[in-house]
Amino acid sequence: TEEYMHRQDKLAAVGQLAAGVAHEIRNPLTSMKGYTEFLTMDEEDEERKEYLEIILDEIDRVDDIVEDFMVLAKPKDLTMEVKDIVSVMNNVLSLLDYDARKQGVAVHLRSEEEVMKAIVDENRIKQVFLNFVKNAIEAMPNGGDLTISLDYSNQKYIHVSITDTGVGIPEEKLKRIGEPFYTTKEKGNGLGLMISFKIVENHNGRVYVESELGKGTTFNVLIPSKRYSG
Ligand code: ADP
Ligand code: MG
Repeated sequence: TEEYMHRQDKLAAVGQLAAGVAHEIRNPLTSMKGYTEFLTMDEEDEERKEYLEIILDEIDRVDDIVEDFMVLAKPKDLTMEVKDIVSVMNNVLSLLDYDARKQGVAVHLRSEEEVMKAIVDENRIKQVFLNFVKNAIEAMPNGGDLTISLDYSNQKYIHVSITDTGVGIPEEKLKRIGEPFYTTKEKGNGLGLMISFKIVENHNGRVYVESELGKGTTFNVLIPSKRYSG
């Protein structure tokens, strides 16, 4: 088993510039989407309608990338509240339930306690879980087991682990995950992990990855627990 501790300096490679550009792209993108939807409504020619729908799909793809970069633009702009991490995870799992089933992935969730509280920005942490769970499902194209567990690693952190029985990550590639645009997927954008590491860092948490080629991967997330802060 190879273990790799995520290094924060990798994130410095993505500057404020990219985040600023993302901001500028947002507005024209919104009007492109609006007008394309408008044209789609009135279109009667099937072929033209199909083209317009492709344009809409592609606009959505750009929009996803822009949204990821926006997280970097305002890293300090978090809405911190006391939340139950178990229910945040349950929520994410229900969103991805269909994807898991479709791919023959069995999902197992176990948590040390029914409710485990932390002070987090719920939407951001949801985004982190979503990215990790999605990656895990995508790593098992022929099905497998997805095991998620939530424990107190000690009083200080909630330890969330996301384990798949998928393709695994070779040692030399373990160093590259989380680099902007690093992807091994045909339709990947290679931003999910970078954003996720950044969000966890902004929560004063930590991420570490264990992987064995051909056996599977575990993403471990440590989130400061409410227990400790009182
Ligand atoms: P994307 O999913 O768009 O490729 P990510 O930043 O989410 O971008 O992931 C980057 C890369 O890390 C993936 O392309 C894949 O090679 C690797 N990876 C991430 N999670 C896993 C996993 N659970 N199992 C195997 N490889 C993974
Ligand atoms: Mg991903």
